[in-house]
Amino acid sequence: MQGSFLFLGTGGSAGVPIITCKCAVCQSSSPLNKRYRPAALLKVGKKSFLVDVGPDFRDQALHFGIDELTGVLLTHTHYDHVGGLDELRVFYFKHKLRLPTLASIETYDELRHRFHYLFKTKQSDGTLQSQLDFQILEEDFGKTSFQGLKLSYVSYTQANMKVTGYRFGSLAYISDIREYDQKVIDSLEGVETLVLSALRYTPSEVHFSIDEAIAFSKKVRAKRTFFTHIAHDLEHDETNAKLPANIRLAHDGLEIAFDL
Ligand SMILES: [Zn+2]
Ligand SMILES: [Zn+2]
Repeated sequence: MQGSFLFLGTGGSAGVPIITCKCAVCQSSSPLNKRYRPAALLKVGKKSFLVDVGPDFRDQALHFGIDELTGVLLTHTHYDHVGGLDELRVFYFKHKLRLPTLASIETYDELRHRFHYLFKTKQSDGTLQSQLDFQILEEDFGKTSFQGLKLSYVSYTQANMKVTGYRFGSLAYISDIREYDQKVIDSLEGVETLVLSALRYTPSEVHFSIDEAIAFSKKVRAKRTFFTHIAHDLEHDETNAKLPANIRLAHDGLEIAFDL
């Protein structure tokens, strides 16, 4: 079975262009240098799954025509990944169904505080419930089925926050990774398509640099790797010209097929 993976956003936490920035990439007219905050849409048969709901989700949903969602998968609770959670209310009000949402226990606990009002919606029977129907990942590593989608998951950290990475068959989505155990590499054995965060060439305390991401990709031995979560330091074509042939910068709107 084949699935498709659509990049809804490939930018860093500030997106590209960055508000107020006059650098060449932020001022570029190329659509390849316009980057929404990181998110993706996974399509399998008639089902579609949103990976992260950043602050650009409303624009992304309108731009890419996202009318239906089978479920939402969250990686962690930094603003660039959950800032658009309120926008999911549209799906709740349209279908009167709580949207299935997959997240780690840490992500769930944090969201209950940050978005407390979403957890207190009055139901027809008078009870208060969350607008999102959480399926919680209690472990750091494992396999599960989410709305019929078989997946495995791994955990790693970024600035002391636990982040969840997802593997769907031959494709893995590993974003916002900084520190990780060898178990992450072991769990990604056999991955053919790796989607990986890589911020820029210069070091960052919370992200892989390009060189660190290339090294990680080599450890996984992925056939092809797409970098996402890209800062304004990287011009699309210039950077791709320098990268190894099997590693490319992704761009918003890029859609790739993979075996599930
Ligand atoms: Zn991020
Ligand atoms: Zn800039």
